[in-house]
Amino acid sequence: MNSSISIAIPFALESELWWTGNGYTETWIECPECAGTKAITLVQGNGQSVSVDCAACSMGYQPPSGMIKQITYQHTPERFTPRRVKVDGDEIWYSESGPFESGYSQVSAKSLFASKDECQNACDALNHERNIMERNRDINNLLDKRKKMAWSAHYWGRKLADTQKELETIKARLSVCQEIKRQAKI
Ligand SMILES: [Zn+2]
Repeated sequence: MNSSISIAIPFALESELWWTGNGYTETWIECPECAGTKAITLVQGNGQSVSVDCAACSMGYQPPSGMIKQITYQHTPERFTPRRVKVDGDEIWYSESGPFESGYSQVSAKSLFASKDECQNACDALNHERNIMERNRDINNLLDKRKKMAWSAHYWGRKLADTQKELETIKARLSVCQEIKRQAKI
């Protein structure tokens, strides 16, 4: 009984293919939230305006820079010659490195095409889809930072009111103490 099973691979080794690549560019643009001024004005629920550091263009605890990094995907067809193949689950991977090379990188058969036109269409679809995802991520990031800024303005506003109240209490206590001391002297 023949127990061997053969798996058809989509492309023969050493064939001339096109790969969608992983091209993208990073550009620094003026922060759309603060227009590069590094500060924004928040209007609180009570109508009071407060100026806070722009969180949209500050990384972690760094001060704001007035600029944000934007990623734009630019997949373009690149030549690809498969020299080794690997079947992993239901996915097929190819690499341009020879079968005896170590530390090779591999790409999915889904990103490889026999014709440049087909590859270009896939690149266009990929750029469109990934750039929409990237812009949505930017918007979500901005909304998240806005929430933090509003929370921070609210928190410090409350802190200021509480501290002022506490100061009044301290002053009142102090004046009582001074009054007692004054009367003691009489
Ligand atoms: Zn900003």
